[in-house]
Amino acid sequence: MTKGKLILITGPSGVGKGTIVRELLNRHSQLYLSISATTRSPRPGEVNGKDYYFVNPCQFEAMIASQTLLEWAEYTGNYYGTPRQQVETKIEQGRWVILEIEVQGARKIKKNFSNTLSLFILPPSFAELEHRLRNRGNNSDTDIHKRLEQAKLELQAAVEFDYQIINDDLDAALQRIETVIFSECSQ
Ligand code: ADP
Ligand code: 5GP
Repeated sequence: MTKGKLILITGPSGVGKGTIVRELLNRHSQLYLSISATTRSPRPGEVNGKDYYFVNPCQFEAMIASQTLLEWAEYTGNYYGTPRQQVETKIEQGRWVILEIEVQGARKIKKNFSNTLSLFILPPSFAELEHRLRNRGNNSDTDIHKRLEQAKLELQAAVEFDYQIINDDLDAALQRIETVIFSECSQ
């Protein structure tokens, strides 16, 4: 059986990772998005089991202890992690699995899974990143501040990943990402 592939999409919060991934999933049925677990509270409209598995810190720590997570990280005061089994099952079925995660977790995946295709999404400027985070309208000022501080560190890590994609014009970024994914994944 043809085995699947891990496609890692990382970059700072607000850069457009979720927007890009949603569009990729709409366009390409062979892609599968791993649903993460998190201890952060759901935003209005977010659905448990669709956007995230929303769990409490105790449940998350039990997942860490039982090694049911492929990777996990603490990010701006909450835990985020990738449930192992769904990813392994889909890869076994030959699916191309997208992990949309922050940089610390992305580093762990790159280290442990050598055949991962990794993409780092960059904003056209730091000011635009801040503008997108503020305009998205679903984070408090304190949280936005923490995310921007974290973004300064994360942006320095861009070169560690296979491809750096600037998300300025969304369609242009998507086109570049599709080229990267489909030429790499067909090899
Ligand atoms: P992330 O998942 O990386 O945190 P989102 O996908 O939630 O980021 O995008 C953050 C905000 O930026 C959203 O309001 C989204 O509509 C907007 N956005 C995404 N891509 C672009 C783009 N290329 N140009 C302008 N705004 C964008
Ligand atoms: P948000 O709170 O905006 O949904 O996510 C915050 C950050 O956590 C984003 O950069 C997002 O990509 C990342 N993230 C989401 N799920 C996971 C995960 O399973 N593992 C890790 N390491 N990061 C994640």
